[in-house]
Order: sequence, then structure tokens, then C-alpha cells
Amino acid sequence: MPTDRLTIFDTTLRDGEQAPGFSMHVDEKVRLARQLARLGVDVIEAGFPIASEADAEAVRRVAAEVRGPVIAGLARCHPADIDRAGLALSPAARRRIHTFIATSDLHLARKLRMTRETCLDAAVAAVRRARRYTDDIQFSAEDATRSDMDFLCRVVEAVIAAGCTTINLPDTVGYSTPDEVAAFFTAIISRVPHSDAVTFSAHCHDDLGLAAANTLAAVCAGARQVECTVNGIGERAGNASLEEVVMATRVRADRLPFTTGIDTAQIFPSSQLLTELTGQAVQANKAIVGRNAFAHEAGIHQDGMLKDRRTYEIMRPEDVGVPQATLVLGKHSGRHAVRRRCEQIGVTLEPQELDQVYTAIVALADREKTVNDKDLAAVVARVRGGAAAAPAAIVPTAVPDFNSTPAEVGYGHGV
Ligand code: MN
Repeated sequence: MPTDRLTIFDTTLRDGEQAPGFSMHVDEKVRLARQLARLGVDVIEAGFPIASEADAEAVRRVAAEVRGPVIAGLARCHPADIDRAGLALSPAARRRIHTFIATSDLHLARKLRMTRETCLDAAVAAVRRARRYTDDIQFSAEDATRSDMDFLCRVVEAVIAAGCTTINLPDTVGYSTPDEVAAFFTAIISRVPHSDAVTFSAHCHDDLGLAAANTLAAVCAGARQVECTVNGIGERAGNASLEEVVMATRVRADRLPFTTGIDTAQIFPSSQLLTELTGQAVQANKAIVGRNAFAHEAGIHQDGMLKDRRTYEIMRPEDVGVPQATLVLGKHSGRHAVRRRCEQIGVTLEPQELDQVYTAIVALADREKTVNDKDLAAVVARVRGGAAAAPAAIVPTAVPDFNSTPAEVGYGHGV
């Protein structure tokens, strides 16, 4: 019987790392792998050992130095790939060989120039060879969601009989919709004999922005491993983002009653480390880890947040390791946010001072877009006719409780 515990298979160092602009040196991969272990992922796919000497070295170093998660290496269904992966993984306490071959007619005919029968034989032979190195074997049917269902079921049945323990069914090109993915997993799990003896896995790409939704649809249909990456990096538009899938199960446990081993407070530090190592920034509006994910500029939102965070916050920033929600002072801000921000830098304003500071902030924001703590301190000093006070450490203060007018709350979109 499937349990409600999901296996988090992180492929940041393989699918993520192979995307343009995201390549990492061996030492950097080891650093990120250590952080992934702190994050609590179950499996780290450390690389594709046959791809290059450096990839093999990275897998070997992660296998030797990182303890906790299972360490996986990717291999095509070729004997040399399997042997290279088996060798690179040998220092790991727990190792997995992840072998794959495309099963769609399009990939077989146009890319591999191979018949279905040759493909099936290669898959079985690869799984058997991988068993020389480990009992933990994952098989992926590349382009599974565009494969012929009868043939795919035959391949899955054959690799299970050969000793495979995890069956990954990727939506390689990010083409599927959530209802299709659910029907697809339901059909395969119900049709393949002994499907209850293995773990089914989803690997979804984000070409249509559906990777996390498709992954969760697969889970609801019986998949118990999800393949994902930090910040959603990966080929083309990327993979399902680890933080989105995990936080969806946390925040909406009522609809998605699945657990993971993830320490969510390590999500933001993991995102930051990946950004630091690759030099690739996360888009500001990225869910969970983007700069704006917990920022509130619209005055109506800021007012609600100051009165009760639940008005505009479905999860607490500290739950994912973000230090705190940010009230961004901009032209949409109101007096409440200006007063709070002043309190946070150690300044208590008299009512007439608040009016003057507020007016100056809105005027400044028209020119500068946003106003930082240093700007705010300078404005307060100017209003008071003194020198600028240095911003103090930000401390939470009590929420003021009074009736609000638009002038106090500010404007900006309320929805
Ligand atoms: Mn992929």
C-alpha cells in the first residue's frame, strides 16, 4: 500500500545544472549537496557520470562526502554508462543508479532510430547490469507522457521483473495538463502487474508553467516520489520547484495530505546558496523564494498585514527561512506602514511629523520607486531638522488598532 510519505528526489545538480548558465564546479556541487542534505531531501541526483570527467568526479565526491540522502547517478541504457555510474557511486553509503531510455515513438524513430523491441531489451539489460552495483535502481521512460500506453506498460512491467525499484514517468517536454497526468498515473499503476512493489515517480517540466501542478496531480494519483529542483531550475523552463511542491503539501495539507522529510526553514538558505554559486538570480515574483514573495507594497495590503498577518499571508516567511515579511515603502504605501517602518528603525513619530514624513516618502518614491531604511532615516532627520539617524535593528512592535481612512492606509491594488 502506498503511504502518504513522499520521497523528495532532488535533481538540482543534474537536470538543474545542465541548464544554460547553471553549471557548477565540483567543489560548488559538494557545497550545494551538503545543503540539500540539511534541507532533508531523500535522494540527491549528483550528476551524469558518463557525461564528463568533471561530472563523474562530482558524483564521486558527493558520494564520498555527503551523508544522509541516497546519492544517485544518471546513466543511459548503455553498459558503459551503467558501469561509470556504478563506479562513481561506489563511495556512497546508499547509492542509486538511475537509468533511462526514451519510450515514445517520436523519440525512438527520430532520435534513437531504434525499434520498440530493441528499446525494451536495452531497458531490461540496463536494469540487470545496474544490479551488479546496487539494489536501488530507478528506471525512467523518457517522454513517457507521449508514449504509447500499451508499450509503456510492457516496458514498466519488464523492468520491474528485472529488479527495478523506482519507476519514473517524466513529462519530459512539459506538455501535459494536470488531469492528463492524473489519468496517466492511474492507468499505469492499475494496469501494470506488481506495480505495488515499486515506487512511482513524477518528473515534470515547466514549459507551460504546470510543473508543480502536474507533480501534485501525479501524487494524488499514486506517485510517491517527486523529482524537483531548488528554485525550479532545469532544462528550458525548468523542473518542478522543490519549494512549491513541498509548501503546497504543508499549506494545503487539507487537500494534499502528504508528508516529506524537508526542513522547510532550510528552503530559503538553499535557494540563496544556489543563487550565490551560479550567479543566477531568482525572478522577483517567484513563489516562496522570490524577493517579492513576502513583500507588501500596496497600502491596503500593508494595513491588513499590520493588523493581522493572515489577511494577506498564507504562510509565514520564517517557516521557509525568510527572515521576515517586508513592508516595502513605495508610492502605494500609507501612513500605517510609514509609521511601522519608522518604529522598526527606532523612530517614534508625532502625528504632525508622520504627515510630513509620509508626504516626503511618497514624493521620494515617485522618483526612486522604493525607499530603503537609510532613505527613511534621512527623511525623518530632514523633517526634524537634525542629522540622519542610523537605522537600528528591526524589531517587531505591537500592531496599532484604530480605524483607517484611505489616507492612513494608502492606496495600491486591494486584490
Ligand atoms: Mn528533465
